[in-house]
Order: sequence, then structure tokens, then C-alpha cells
Amino acid sequence: MTEGRIIKISGPLVIAEGMREANMFDVVRVGEKKLIGEIIEMHSDRASIQVYEETAGLGRGDAVVSAMEPLSVELGPGLIGNIYDGIQRPLEKMRQIAGPNILKGVDIPSISREDKWEFVATAKIGDDVTGGDVVGYVDETDVIRHKIMVPPGVSGKIEYLLSGKYTVEDRIGEIVSAGGVKTPLTLMQKWPVRRARPYVEKMPPNTPMITGQRIIDTLFPIAMGGTACIPGPFGSGKTVVQHQLAKWSNVDLVVYIGCGERGNEMTDVLREFPEITDPRTGRSLMERTVLIANTSDMPVAAREASIYTGITIAEYFRDMGLSVAVIADSTSRWAEALREMSGRLEEMPGDEGYPAYLTSRLAGFYERAGEVRCIGSDGRTGSVTAIGAVSPPGGDISEPVSQATLRIVKVFWGLDSALAYARHFPAINWLNSYSLYKDRLAGWFSENISGKWNDLSRELMRILQKESELDEIVKLVGVDALSKDDRLTLEIARSVREDFLQQNAFDIEDAFTAQQKQLALIELILFFRDKAKEAIDNGADIDKIASLPVRERIGRAKVTADHEVKEVFADIKAEIESSLKALYVR
Ligand code: ADP
Repeated sequence: MTEGRIIKISGPLVIAEGMREANMFDVVRVGEKKLIGEIIEMHSDRASIQVYEETAGLGRGDAVVSAMEPLSVELGPGLIGNIYDGIQRPLEKMRQIAGPNILKGVDIPSISREDKWEFVATAKIGDDVTGGDVVGYVDETDVIRHKIMVPPGVSGKIEYLLSGKYTVEDRIGEIVSAGGVKTPLTLMQKWPVRRARPYVEKMPPNTPMITGQRIIDTLFPIAMGGTACIPGPFGSGKTVVQHQLAKWSNVDLVVYIGCGERGNEMTDVLREFPEITDPRTGRSLMERTVLIANTSDMPVAAREASIYTGITIAEYFRDMGLSVAVIADSTSRWAEALREMSGRLEEMPGDEGYPAYLTSRLAGFYERAGEVRCIGSDGRTGSVTAIGAVSPPGGDISEPVSQATLRIVKVFWGLDSALAYARHFPAINWLNSYSLYKDRLAGWFSENISGKWNDLSRELMRILQKESELDEIVKLVGVDALSKDDRLTLEIARSVREDFLQQNAFDIEDAFTAQQKQLALIELILFFRDKAKEAIDNGADIDKIASLPVRERIGRAKVTADHEVKEVFADIKAEIESSLKALYVR
């Protein structure tokens, strides 16, 4: 322990001297109220401290005590379903103790010390184990089996191990190293948030995270362990897209980090999330979710820590061999916290006042994503997929946070206010969005979904790009100047947009579309195109083709229940054929 004295206070930044013994990133307790802070800069015996609580009331000369350990999270049963602040304090518990106002310096454990968990040992006495080896499990929720692992860096023989009902601090066993060092095992471990948890190797991303969102899965897929950003102006549907991903993606667990700017925005998430039912289990989504929320009554600085807290929790579940999605909303708010701190530290400002290390900090977050071979001797794999929303002021992505993010992430789902205004949802702009995983995932799609998948996806994109070219021509010379074939392309492009890309998050049939149905929908639209082309070659009138009643049925095809797809689509195809044939003039 080392104790220093405050010499300067500037908002969330406190400078203390007499801290020679302390280290960078140590947790410190500041002043009489023991506010929680973290050392973010050291110059000889002077420490710059980022304080995660309101600093009003502190004064020069107040004591600053370093705990001599880095800011860490507690990892163990009891995490799931919890709602934490940026430094992993349980919001609900704090509210019970302190009421609506967050109490300063409160020391509430992140994971309950009273709850008892049924631990089932799977390893045996005498087993040789190393960090990451699974010694047993706790069924934490109905959907998540929480594996209890030997902490990284520990190895030896299991001296004893007992199944039974335990709190996270009870000893469940003991490991003795070759040198005779004894390490007690508990259900809980700790890990410093700013250090990535170890793994054996990162693997190339070649499995998609299936989202059931048609534009994402077919045109801009993300890999398990991949990185993506969703930039978009206010009201363009960022929240809905993120909720859809949290709800429908085929991951085992979701860590949702909310850095909302306005208080009510975060309370919305706090209220909404627990009410969402997990469509696959019919139970609350919270049974496979950990929420990190930066509420408005907390200083901005706490946002900075929150994304590390979130991704460390995600890595811990990854280490169990699970697939985890981390959704950070929004990284712009997080970057603002970084900017504020940098300003107070009087660092040389970079672009728009953001610190020069903005990009490397962002990269530091996204780099912790990936599909990995976990430590532990069974060779299991797990993944962390990182998705960050970006909310550029005015929706202009030329600003520094968007640009830095774009240089790092591999998928860009660009939300567009014009599309949102036209009520085309999800308002992902197909012309400027991209996925750099597409080629890597092609093999998976063709093996697991259909050999036709990649060609059809390319064909959709080609139609949409052609439409945008033709639109330019139409603007200049009018639609009548186009050839019949080009007019048909415009009609088909409209069908792709309206009958395929548009997806209503609030319609039970439409909210999620399985891969096979996505494929069938594309085929249906292209079947219409091919038959319409034949009809045109046989003298049919394009206006008549465009207004055929069967197009209405194609538009509704996406809400067909899965088990009826085959029959209904065959029937629509029959009607397409006969109604187009009826338009032949020779
Ligand atoms: P943001 O978070 O970007 O401010 P929201 O996600 O709250 O925007 O979306 C704004 C509104 O747009 C929603 O309330 C909803 O009515 C509509 N919306 C967005 N996405 C969809 C969707 N996929 N399906 C239907 N409506 C949507």
C-alpha cells in the first residue's frame, strides 16, 4: 500500500504526489470517501488519476491510497443477467443500498458473496492441470453452463476437489505445483481489465455469425470472432439493429456495453433488455446477457473503463469455449471520455481534439476480438465478436472516431438517414457498406447452405449496383429512354430492396430469416426476373409486367412461415409463370 496527497483536482482528474511506489493502472482510493480511481499516468512520484466518481468535495492534501493492484473484474457464477456500471459495480445492488443516487466509494462486490452455486466437479483428485483446464461446472442459468477453469498461469496436481453448494469465495479445491506451491481453487477468479486474457492461438475467421438479418447474412456477413461497426445518425436504427443482433445471432452469450449520452437513453436499455425474450429459448434474454451501463449520473470517465470491463467478461466466457458477442453502443461516447481526459491531462490534441492515441486505443479494443483456441488441454475453441456502434455528430463519417474505426474493423454496416426517412429498414446502405470476410466465408456458405449461395449473393449486389447506375441515367433523360431490359432491371432491383432487404424487426415472421429461406427468397425474385425476361422477348409490355398482381405475393413471401416456404413458394412460382405467359403477344 502506498499513500500520497492530492495536489490538484480538475473534474475527474486528480493529481497526487508521494505515489512513487504505485504503478500505472493501479486502482486507488481517493479522499475521505474513498472514491474509486485508476492511475493513468506516472511522472516520478506524481500520479495522474482518473476518478470514476464525482470529485466534488475533494480538496488538496486529501489522501490517495493505492491498492497496488490493477483495475480488475471478478469472473465467476453470478455474472450473467447482471447489470453493471463501467467498473463492474452491480447497479441493482447499489440502488437497493443507496437509493436512486449512486453512493460514493461504496464497496459492493461485483459478484454476490452470499449466493450459493451447485458446483459439479468433473476433474479428479491427482489430475495434472494447467491454466484453462476445466475442473467442473455450475449451471448458472437454464441456458448457460458456467465452466469452472483453472486460472491462467496456475498449474499442478489437484490435491482435492469437492462437488457441492458453494459461494464464489469458498474453497472448492486446491492445486499443488511441482515446487509444492499450493493454490486454492474457488468458483471466482479476477482479471485486470486492460490486459487481454491469454489464448493458445487466434484462428482465421471462417465461420459466419448467423444473424437472420437478410442484408447482413447475404451481402455483408460477419465472421464469428470478427469486428464490425454500425455508424449512423440519430434515428437511423442503430439501436434496433443492435437489439436484433443481440436477440437473433447464433452466439451463446451477449455482453452489451451501453455508453449512452443522455441518461434516458441508457435507462431505455436497462428497461428494455430484461423484457426481451430470447426467441430461441423462450426465456428472458438476460439469461445469456451481461449488461454494462454507464448511467448519466456517473462521470464521463467511467465510460472509458466500461469497454475494457465488457470485453474482459466476454473473453472469460470465450475461454469456456463459448461464442460471445460484444456490442458497444456507442464507441463515439467512449471516445469523448478519452478526449475529455486527454484535454485535462493537457496532452497535445490531435484531430478535433481527440488524443493522438485514439486509433491505437480503439484498435486495442477490437484486437481483443477473435476466434481462438483456448488455453486448457482439451483444445476447445471460443470466440469474441466485437460490434461497435458509432454515432458521428450529424451523421458525417468523415470525423475522427468513424475514420479510425473504419481503419480497424472488417465489416461496415453504414446506416443511412435517407433510407430511414423513407422507412427502408434496416437502413443499411448497400452501396457503401462492406464485409471483408465475404471471400473467407464463401466456402462455409457453399458447403453448409448451398453451392449457389455465393453466386446469388453476387447477383443481388450486381443488380443493386446496376440500379444505381441506371438511376443516374434516369435522372438525366427520364425512364422512357431506357431499354426494356434496363427497365426490367430497375423493377427487379426494387423487388430486391423491398421484398428482400427490407426487414421488419417488429414482425414475428420477418424479424429473423433462416438461411434456407433467405436463399429461397432470392431465388424467387430471380425466377420472376428470368420469366419476365422471357416475356419481354416475347413482346410483353414492361408496364404490364411491373403491375402484375403476383408481385404482391412475392412481396409477402418473406413472412411465410418456415414450414410453408416450399409449398407457398412453388405456388407463387406457378403463378409467375402463368401470368407472365399470358402477357406474350406472339
Ligand atoms: P437510433 O438508435 O439510430 O437513434 P433507433 O434504432 O431507435 O435509432 O430506430 C429509430 C426507429 O426506426 C425505431 O423506433 C423504429 O420505429 C424504426 N426502425 C429501425 N429499424 C427498424 C427495423 N429493422 N424494422 C422496423 N422499424 C425499424
